[in-house]
Amino acid sequence: MSKRIAILGSTGSIGVNALRVIDALGPQYEVAALTAHNNVGHLAEQVRRYRPRHVALSNPAKSIELKHLLNGCGAEILTGPDSLPQVAALPGIDIVITAVVGAAGLQAALAAAEAGKRLAIANKEPLVIAGQLLTETARANNADIIPVDSEHSAIFQALQAGRPEEVNRIILTASGGPFRNANPDEIRNASVEKALRHPTWSMGPKITVDCATMVNKALEVIEAVWLFNTTVDKIAVLVHPESVVHSMVEFVDGSVLAQMGTPDMCLPIQYALTYPKRLKGISSHLKLDQLGTLTFEKPNLELFRALKLGFEVAAEGGSAPVVYNAANEAAVEEFLAGRIKFGRIVELIELCLDKHNVRPSLSLQELLEVDQWARQEVARASRP
Ligand code: NDP
Ligand code: MG
Repeated sequence: MSKRIAILGSTGSIGVNALRVIDALGPQYEVAALTAHNNVGHLAEQVRRYRPRHVALSNPAKSIELKHLLNGCGAEILTGPDSLPQVAALPGIDIVITAVVGAAGLQAALAAAEAGKRLAIANKEPLVIAGQLLTETARANNADIIPVDSEHSAIFQALQAGRPEEVNRIILTASGGPFRNANPDEIRNASVEKALRHPTWSMGPKITVDCATMVNKALEVIEAVWLFNTTVDKIAVLVHPESVVHSMVEFVDGSVLAQMGTPDMCLPIQYALTYPKRLKGISSHLKLDQLGTLTFEKPNLELFRALKLGFEVAAEGGSAPVVYNAANEAAVEEFLAGRIKFGRIVELIELCLDKHNVRPSLSLQELLEVDQWARQEVARASRP
């Protein structure tokens, strides 16, 4: 029987790669639902090509346009903010690929976990802000969460070589982003164009900016805490500009297991779909002899304060990661819209964290309120 897949955020970078992976895997993997937010033209094209049974658009302002474009296509069309959680919980879906960007994907991830689906989780922000709730919900409903983020996929694969109590450290690798060798002034005033020029990975704009600030690595530290049921003191970050070693696990006997591959998201996406099997796919194979040297260095926590802050926030837990994430999402939006300088992103995160009294645990409602508060603070501090 084929696996029926919903891709939440099918028009994005991960979503499009997921469709390429499914194409290559053949009829055992079926596109059953596709969703987007704004890009109705692209979504309609995908629907005509893949013929999913369900389609959802979270932005209600575009629903008439989508219905017009898909007139007569035969798919059930859901619209509005609740449409993604509805799709994620549909009985006809086996695997939900969460490829929405930002905290906006939280309710859908929770719905998929409640419905006991396999979550192929790319959308890291829900794990960062509600890791406990999401992992507990998944456990209670026998939903498995398989990482798509390349570092976490690597760790997930390496962990299969030992027992949890045999793990000494998790070593997350980071490319270092476009400003690895830049000076503080260049970083502070970096243009949108430069921040979007990632040296090794091709991704959506938000995560690309997060790589430039190294916020992405901070989010990944917190993501790892929840995915691998560990603590932040067991997680280290190592800069590895070639992005070939996707991450490593060090065991108590000193053995270090690394997972390697080309910097291409198709491989981790595919593994999250086929696990525990491995199938032939479309990722190009590594040619280490052509690469020559692999380098590793310590991250510069003075230059990349966002990463240092991320470790602090991860250790603090509770509402701290919610503030960190929401302030960052709002600040990145301001930066991409040309309203603030690049260096202001980390300052705005700091400003929100300074103003916030951390609460140890939050209900979903409280969490959403803290998220909104931080976004409003950023808007107030960055607009005239
Ligand atoms: P993109 O910006 O390329 O795509 C985002 C997708 O989400 C689009 O389909 C978009 O729809 C949809 N979307 C945007 N806003 C909303 C919203 N408010 N509600 C519902 N859907 C929305 O992002 P990426 O593919 O780069 O990243 C997706 C997630 O995966 C992120 O959390 C990122 O951190 C993570 N990730 C990405 C990697 C990558 O290689 N890109 C690597 C590792 C993790 P529309 O097109 O209609 O606007
Ligand atoms: Mg990653």
